[in-house]
Amino acid sequence: MKVGCPTEIKTDEYRVALTPAGVRELVEHGHEVVIQAGAGEGSAITDAEYVSQGASILPDAAAVFEASDMIVKVKEPQAVEVAMLEPRHTLFTYLHLAPDPELTKGLVESGATCVAYETVEDSRGRLPLLAPMSEVAGKIATQAGAFMLEKPLGGRGILLGGVPGVAAAKVMIIGGGVVGMNAAFIALGMEATVYVYDRNIDRLRELDIAFGGRADTCYASTLDIEQRLPEVDLVIGAVLVAGAKAPYVIRRDQLALMKPSAVLVDVSIDQGGCFETSRPTTHSDPTYEVDGVLHYCVANMPGAVPITSTRALTNATMPYIVHVADAGVERAARENPGLAKGVNVVGGKVTYAPVAESTGLPY
Ligand code: NAD
Repeated sequence: MKVGCPTEIKTDEYRVALTPAGVRELVEHGHEVVIQAGAGEGSAITDAEYVSQGASILPDAAAVFEASDMIVKVKEPQAVEVAMLEPRHTLFTYLHLAPDPELTKGLVESGATCVAYETVEDSRGRLPLLAPMSEVAGKIATQAGAFMLEKPLGGRGILLGGVPGVAAAKVMIIGGGVVGMNAAFIALGMEATVYVYDRNIDRLRELDIAFGGRADTCYASTLDIEQRLPEVDLVIGAVLVAGAKAPYVIRRDQLALMKPSAVLVDVSIDQGGCFETSRPTTHSDPTYEVDGVLHYCVANMPGAVPITSTRALTNATMPYIVHVADAGVERAARENPGLAKGVNVVGGKVTYAPVAESTGLPY
């Protein structure tokens, strides 16, 4: 198969979907790999490093799409990329279609087979291609939140860990999955007071053991969340209902309960956001204020640390990319039911139920 890797074009996105190690694996399996010139630059990978492992370099995205059967990317395709997709293509990338009917419609109309990293499952129902980026985003969420709490950036002006004689800031994390756990570990490392909320009691049990009593685990009922809001300085939203639009865990009227210039970090923004007042922002302009509360809602948080993120992502995606290249997407999906869960669009139809439900497009 011919596998193509274009340069990411979303604002402030510096990751790339293949590394030289990935090129080596694909070439050893008898596949041809084409890379857009400069695609790896943002992640400190040169064209020469790709070429040394057997890839060819093409000048632009149009040439990569033209030459390839499978396109591997990082972020959801932008409009100019959707326009280059044809029924012969397999697209393998993050898609986050549930909150985006327009993109879903574009992919349906392209006729391409579109496989979403974020809905691929492993044999235990976990999300192996979302997890590495969730680890990165969780760690950034606390870092960014701590920074935004500084007064010149619009925050309350409180130091996360406090100092001897002055209390630490209070951090509330809603959603104790991969993002939430990583956010909590960094917050604990910075010596904040940490509360983690989830609706899955088994998950709260696991977290309680992982934190060794250093963070409080709390059931995420609407009332319990509301009662905590007046005392916290930083809230990190990290809930996920796989493939579906994120549920709102904080409503606009509840912002009035919070301290002035408290900070909300909505990591779930790529699934539509879990605070009613969230809207996507970028690394260059990451925050805005609603009712006196600062919101940070960057949709591609791991894009800010591409050297780490590209390697973490491709370590996880590589076995799946090689399998699809070896077997073709149809057979690979039959052989691996977890990969089949990633197939969101095929032959002009949505094939992933939560996306069809959210977008209202035919299933
Ligand atoms: P996960 O499945 O590991 O964890 C989600 C947790 O949310 C689960 O423990 C689940 O029980 C809990 N949950 C679901 N509904 C809830 C509710 N109403 N109240 C409280 N808890 C609830 O998912 P994850 O890998 O941690 O990802 C979390 C979110 O972060 C996803 O939307 C993911 O797409 C997003 N994400 C965003 C970025 C970014 O750059 N913005 C990067 C990576 C991941």
